[in-house]
Amino acid sequence: MYLTHLDCPRCGLEYAADKLQNLCECGSPLLARYDLPAVAKAVTPERFGLRPADLWRYRELLPVADPRHVTTLGEGWTPLLRTPSYGAEIGIADLMVKDEGLIPTGSFKARGAAVGVSRARELGVERIAMPTNGNAGSAWATYAARAGMGATIVMPLAAPTICRRECVAAGADLRLVDGLISDAGRRVAELIAESDGAIFDAGTLREPYRLEGKKTMGYEIVEQLGWQVPDVIIYPTGGGVGLIGIHKALHEMRELGWVGDKLPRLVAVQ
Ligand SMILES: [Zn+2]
Repeated sequence: MYLTHLDCPRCGLEYAADKLQNLCECGSPLLARYDLPAVAKAVTPERFGLRPADLWRYRELLPVADPRHVTTLGEGWTPLLRTPSYGAEIGIADLMVKDEGLIPTGSFKARGAAVGVSRARELGVERIAMPTNGNAGSAWATYAARAGMGATIVMPLAAPTICRRECVAAGADLRLVDGLISDAGRRVAELIAESDGAIFDAGTLREPYRLEGKKTMGYEIVEQLGWQVPDVIIYPTGGGVGLIGIHKALHEMRELGWVGDKLPRLVAVQ
């Protein structure tokens, strides 16, 4: 594994990566850092094409040391489809769409859950908890079940029924709150405080490793374009972690020397 440490993008404080971490003491989320010069020596972009068609093909850039902790349902390596008719209609030449709907549990959230759960398992977590508006809860409940880990999912009553059903089907402890996602977040904080360390807070931007799973969208887009970056990436976003992940991947690839200095324009659509 090439993961070296976590650091805070706001204040620069560094944290050990072999212990469970949530936020920096300044309140910012933490980022996983790798020994990129060593990665560049260990693997070249051409090698990835010989590996299985899932996100674990980028294992040198992922935070799991022991392959036995990898928790997978075959997520990643979704198709990047040319869409010429729609491109012509809206006046964009070479428009492409990356179809994340084909991933287990139906959304890119599975990328974050696969890597986040794998790393949590490696660090000894037995139960995770998170507030969610829907599909992140489905993904984390499903991957926790796959890892043999407990999951406590707290959702607003207004969240989609299908996501509730998916959490229950996966065996999660589902709690509903009459309120918003922020109320669900407060309930999770109470449950974690009451658990005396038995529950790990896996909420969005509260643990550093789901971002590592989501960043693989960036690696895939570039690999699928023959290690070229596109001009623009337009990203439909809720919390924004997917786009932050793609941004992180692009910067890593630039530092690895796998892409040039010119990076794509990133557009968040909400
Ligand atoms: Zn900080």
